[in-house]
Amino acid sequence: MYPLLTEEAQLKLTDLKQAVPLERKHQFVDVQGKRQRFSAFVCQSLKILNREFSGAVAEVSALLTRFERYSSMDLAFRMAACDALETFVLDTLNPKRQTAVARASVANNPAPTPTEQLPIQTLPVQYIKGVGPKLAGVLGLLNISTVHELLYYFPRDYVDYNQQASISTLLEGDTVSLVATVEGVSHHELKNRQGLQVLRLKVSDKSGVATASWFFGKKQLAQLHAFKNKFPRGTQVLLSGKVKWDSYSRCPSLEKADIQSLSYEEKADASESGLAELPPPSLHTGRIVPIYPLSQGVNLKTLRKCIYQALTLYSQQLEEFLPPSIRQTLNLLPLQEALMGIHFPETMEQCHQAKRRLVFDELFLMQLRLGLLRQQYKQNVQGLVLTQQPDSLSRQFLAQLPFALTNAQQRAFAEICRDLAASEPMNRLLHGDVGAGKTVVAALTLLVAVENGYQAALMAPTEILAEQHYKKFVDWFTPLGIGCALVLGKQSVKTKRLVKQGLLNGQLHIAVGTHALIQDDVEFQRLGVVVVDEQHRFGVRQRMKFREKGEMPELLSMTATPIPRTLAMTVHGDLDVSVLDELPPGRSPIKTVLLTQSQRVQAYDLIRQEVALGRQAYIVFPLIEESETLAAKAATAEIERLQKETFPTLQLGLLHGKLKSEEKEAVMGAFASGALNILVATTVVEVGVDVPNATVMMIESADRFGLAQLHQLRGRVGRGKHQSYCVLLSTSKNTETKERLAIMEQTTDGFVIAEHDLSLRGPGDYLGTRQSGLPDLALADLVEDHELLALAREHAFALLAEPAGLEGYPALKQVLFAQLAQGQALLNSG
Ligand code: ADP
Ligand code: MG
Repeated sequence: MYPLLTEEAQLKLTDLKQAVPLERKHQFVDVQGKRQRFSAFVCQSLKILNREFSGAVAEVSALLTRFERYSSMDLAFRMAACDALETFVLDTLNPKRQTAVARASVANNPAPTPTEQLPIQTLPVQYIKGVGPKLAGVLGLLNISTVHELLYYFPRDYVDYNQQASISTLLEGDTVSLVATVEGVSHHELKNRQGLQVLRLKVSDKSGVATASWFFGKKQLAQLHAFKNKFPRGTQVLLSGKVKWDSYSRCPSLEKADIQSLSYEEKADASESGLAELPPPSLHTGRIVPIYPLSQGVNLKTLRKCIYQALTLYSQQLEEFLPPSIRQTLNLLPLQEALMGIHFPETMEQCHQAKRRLVFDELFLMQLRLGLLRQQYKQNVQGLVLTQQPDSLSRQFLAQLPFALTNAQQRAFAEICRDLAASEPMNRLLHGDVGAGKTVVAALTLLVAVENGYQAALMAPTEILAEQHYKKFVDWFTPLGIGCALVLGKQSVKTKRLVKQGLLNGQLHIAVGTHALIQDDVEFQRLGVVVVDEQHRFGVRQRMKFREKGEMPELLSMTATPIPRTLAMTVHGDLDVSVLDELPPGRSPIKTVLLTQSQRVQAYDLIRQEVALGRQAYIVFPLIEESETLAAKAATAEIERLQKETFPTLQLGLLHGKLKSEEKEAVMGAFASGALNILVATTVVEVGVDVPNATVMMIESADRFGLAQLHQLRGRVGRGKHQSYCVLLSTSKNTETKERLAIMEQTTDGFVIAEHDLSLRGPGDYLGTRQSGLPDLALADLVEDHELLALAREHAFALLAEPAGLEGYPALKQVLFAQLAQGQALLNSG
């Protein structure tokens, strides 16, 4: 029943067994072997295994799919893929632990022998009495293939039969849940409403009759009929919604109610007779009954029975994996009780407690994964020891700086110095709102490398930004006798050669550039510190490549994306974080006003006034056109209009993503030097542009931007000593939009804005920006459960910090690694 291990297969498995630790040691960079990269080697080997096993082992194909994407995926994916590969290889090589193979062979062997006891994590659902191949196939539609997955298939809702409203007691305006039987279905077209159809159900319970109605447009006839067919006469349904009085039928009515069928196609169950044998104590009525998310062909009642059976037969096999101390401190239910409680609670309170325990599990495991990532980065690698010397370059630099560091800058730099001086490599994120002064802190960090005899490099996401940093650094560092290099893709061959030479022989100490810095031919003599500006703009791979330019350089990442604190714990969970939560002194807060189209002249007047005072302005257009090309066209047309009609005497420049880099540079240069009064731009100005003399930021169609983005744009002004203004134009009459934009008028605190953005738009936007994707959370909600999240993090990190770490908790370790092996999304590291 196990695939025969041919010599060839044995050989390939052994090769793979040796390759994984090597890749792991190299921090999952897809290490280059003698002939090919790690992932290519793995794919090749897996293909051979597939051939040797005659394609009978499903794991091999699954692994192949993962490794074919390996090189383009993030760190988290890679770690999980390597773990899965290793588990598979070890299991297959070890005759006693052939679970992986056994699992695969079950698919070909629908009659499993009961003596063969697999752990429920891998035990196929067919093992449950009464679950035949047909039902197993149906469960497969819900992605349930093992008993464990069945137990962790959570209800999306409950019906409390003890608390049912009855029709006779319904009061207008109440929001209710009602169990009733369909008495009839009808639909008719509404008069004078352009084909709008109304579908009406007549329902009843013991106490009376009610109606429920839904509306369908004329293009939704198919949906209408599907709906009708789904709820024929006699169907028992659960309706939830708001009660109105139906004066036509003279009975209570629910409009656009949530509806769910509670009836079951008994015929479909007939073949699963084994299930019916178990007489569950009224699983379907007279209690709090779980409602599961279903898909076509899956029957609610059957699913309930399966889960109940799995709970009674197998849940005792689920080992409690939370350390008792944590369970006690947080007053969490034992695991088995929690699972029973989430599926078949006795009371809603019990259900709540059960959910709390399981939510904690998800968050706790997630934080453990992040904690492990963070440890992994630091363990087994000897980093550099860089200490700030007395009378050193960094101190000289500070002394000549025309301003004093803010407290926040001092604190962040002290934290960085501590990391630099420790033998573990630094992996820190400097998180500061726009204009908080991250560049100075970065400069100091670079200098510490130089004063210790190392080189340092800073990578920025755009050429504009790289050039801006470079100019600043030349001003700051040339007096200190430090040679700076600019590395851009567009540079001439000759310039590049000179720069590369200087970096290789060590004459140039500091390099600033775009991703051109990570080209293979850019080499450093002794790179000690790397800084990534606007780090979220880079992929994990790019950041890793950057770090590989040195032996084991210290890494500082910077971001101005204000992430709500609640999410920062997850998004940056694997990094040490320093926060610049204070702006340099003397900045008067930016005045923000929201104007409608008809008030646009006010904005133009303001710009004229400011220009008359010697200041400058930005006018920004959103990417309405979905593409930079079209947006560029729109902006070009707009600038012509503005120049001709609105500002005939002023100098206007245009900046958009489709310009060649020399053109961009010329425009930016002209704006920075003051030769241009107004810069008209698409959102390319969003990141980091620093022209302190600019005092007006006018944003067209502001409603098209998210709050976080508006905040970024606004941060382009208010960077000098002059009073600055942000003008938001919007024609939207939508109340929500207006409220959202009003937040911009009320506050300039990026964190406050981020919290609002989060509550308005949910966490997807924040987590989605990281290519890692969301962690796989079935129950937990990162926003709603943030208190539990904080606790989970605290306990997870404390546990990992214990002398034995995870090793002290074998059951926990097993659960965690099983998750990793399944390729659960991890968040990537910085
Ligand atoms: P960001 O954090 O957005 O990258 P920058 O580093 O570009 O901000 O700094 C914004 C402006 O504030 C720059 O012109 C910078 O020179 C100035 N600045 C930075 N730190 C201070 C400080 N401590 N006091 C006064 N001005 C400062
Ligand atoms: Mg910056």
